[in-house]
Amino acid sequence: MQKFSGKTIFKGVAIGKVMFYGKKEETVKRYKIEDTEKEIRRFEDAKAQAIEDLNRLHDDAVKKVGEENAAIFEVHAMLLDDEDFGDSVRNSIETQKINAEYATAIAGDNFSKMFAEMEDDYFRGRAADMKDIAERVINVLTGASDRASFDEPVIIAADDLLPSQTVQLDKDKVLAFVTRKGSSNSHTAILARTMNIPALIGVPVEEDWDGHQAIVDAHSGTFILDPDAETLKAQAEIQRKDEEARRLLQELKGRENTTLDGKTINLYANIGNLGDVGAVLSNDGGGIGLFRSEFIYIGRDELPTEEEQFQIYKSVAETMAGKKVIIRTLDIGADKKADYLHLDKEDNPALGFRAIRICLARPEIFETQLRAIYRASAFGTVSIMYPMITSVEEVKKIKEISAGVREKLAKANIPIGRVEEGIMIETPAAAVISDELAQLVDFFSIGTNDLTQYTLAMDRQNAKLENFYNPHHEAILRLINLVVQNGHAHDTWVGICGELGADTTLTETFLQMGVDELSVSPSMILPVRKQIRSSIAKKQEG
Ligand code: PEP
Ligand code: MG
Repeated sequence: MQKFSGKTIFKGVAIGKVMFYGKKEETVKRYKIEDTEKEIRRFEDAKAQAIEDLNRLHDDAVKKVGEENAAIFEVHAMLLDDEDFGDSVRNSIETQKINAEYATAIAGDNFSKMFAEMEDDYFRGRAADMKDIAERVINVLTGASDRASFDEPVIIAADDLLPSQTVQLDKDKVLAFVTRKGSSNSHTAILARTMNIPALIGVPVEEDWDGHQAIVDAHSGTFILDPDAETLKAQAEIQRKDEEARRLLQELKGRENTTLDGKTINLYANIGNLGDVGAVLSNDGGGIGLFRSEFIYIGRDELPTEEEQFQIYKSVAETMAGKKVIIRTLDIGADKKADYLHLDKEDNPALGFRAIRICLARPEIFETQLRAIYRASAFGTVSIMYPMITSVEEVKKIKEISAGVREKLAKANIPIGRVEEGIMIETPAAAVISDELAQLVDFFSIGTNDLTQYTLAMDRQNAKLENFYNPHHEAILRLINLVVQNGHAHDTWVGICGELGADTTLTETFLQMGVDELSVSPSMILPVRKQIRSSIAKKQEG
């Protein structure tokens, strides 16, 4: 038995087998074959099997994480079916009389290199995909397991996970996440919380843990490899207690978010896609305070159309049945990438061309999204929220564009609902001028993840800064207080949708500041409700 410590991202205990998620650099053996026709048949059969697996994975993923996140499997099937790739493998088998595995590995490497050298970002992005699909065919040929799909629930161990990788994992089969890199406010960490899955970062993950029994104790921040019987028994008991605590929390469903001295606030949830709405309702969320719409845009090959977006927003609005749904417009950039946008590589992407800056520079993308959101507003209670605001001029420009979209829809007799427009306060600039911004919008939602990164000048993605990163920093709390004061002075309601909103050690502080809404991951709704109900909103004198 070995123990390693890490940092907790989401509490809980998981017991199970480790699956190392990542590229295993196994060397594929080369050997001579006699019967080239037979070897080509082996390749063709393996390719057909791999395409069938990809189609199945795609269909499963559509159900679990939505079409937009499932699209990658379709792309892989298409790349694998490409004639040139097949020709290259067949040619190597015929001319060099080598085994199908080796011929596939060579073709995978060559195509990957070819893509990597291309000018175009989109094609460069396909380099890793070519390696992936070659590996998939080799796995079928050698009978090795498919790394992207697994039958029994597993603990995912990885060096690091990208948001696009995390959303593609089958939620029902993931017991826990353990990574070497990563940070508490990264989008992958946020996804782990949304998925309600125990997670640790900063664990010295090793590839050869793959297949070993392990425990993730995300209460104490410990990863235990090959646990002994006594440890297993003790952790199973903690798991049972967690279950009991979860059951007790269920009793808070249907209860008000009201403090001991009678102040009621709104408690909403953050979601990344349509598939998360079920968790909002089952945890009794009063609405959706942040729909990170950019997850519709990532993990695919082209911009989502207006119709595709409309269908998603409409489904969310209808499923929430009149409860508020705040859709944040595209916040792409930094760690959330979409190759097809062909954005230049930047030295400081978190400070770069991202979010609203892209939308204002490419109004056709922005207007398409706004049309889809406004059309969906006729089917529920929809609000729009704009990310990464830094100035009054930006907000005025945005309002001009959104008014233009509404006008066009009205001319075309397309019905829309009453839509509140708000902004995220996630840059120090926006917090400082929130008195002016409050006069332009219906609401503010404080994005403490970015507000912390920009105020403290600390990259939220940088694992090395974990020990310096202090979201409770007095500067952050003062900025939040300032934003609430400025918002209320102009009848603008103020919420918090960053991860700090779910920090129950600060719930009473936020209530005393006068925060009107907290939007948290679905799994945190009931714990935060519990905290609100034992808090006092009125600030004590002295
Ligand atoms: C934030 O910055 O706090 C926020 C909610 O937005 P995101 O985490 O998606 O950047
Ligand atoms: Mg943000």
